[in-house]
Amino acid sequence: MLRHGKNVWTILAEVIGFDLGGQRVLLADGAVGFDSLIVATGARDHYFGNDDWEPLAPGLKSIEDATAIRRKIL
Ligand SMILES: Cc1cc2nc3c(=O)[nH]c(=O)nc-3n(C[C@H](O)[C@H](O)[C@H](O)COP(=O)(O)OP(=O)(O)OC[C@H]3O[C@@H](n4cnc5c(N)ncnc54)[C@H](O)[C@@H]3O)c2cc1C
Repeated sequence: MLRHGKNVWTILAEVIGFDLGGQRVLLADGAVGFDSLIVATGARDHYFGNDDWEPLAPGLKSIEDATAIRRKIL
């Protein structure tokens, strides 16, 4: 959707923090400036305050989760 945008580019990097005053996203190997910032780091499973449910009802949000469930089933 964005590939024809002349002011759009993609960076594959780990975000380690934010310098809000300096308007910079801090990366494991550098920093990048911003005018406006939207942070969308995904979500974790939510057990409505019943964290002891987690071992009984594991999440399915990653390849590791999927292979763990597959292993349990097999
Ligand atoms: C198995 C499964 C099936 C689904 N099926 C459907 C479906 O059929 N239809 C539907 O509408 N929705 C479906 N969903 C839900 C949908 O995938 C999510 O709602 C959606 O992906 C959420 O998008 P997001 O951008 O908020 O988060 P994500 O897609 O989780 O993206 C967050 C990104 O942030 C990155 N990130 C996190 N921390 C850092 C960091 N410090 N530095 C750099 N990057 C970081 C992560 O690596 C990730 O790439 C499904 C989800 C799952 C798990």
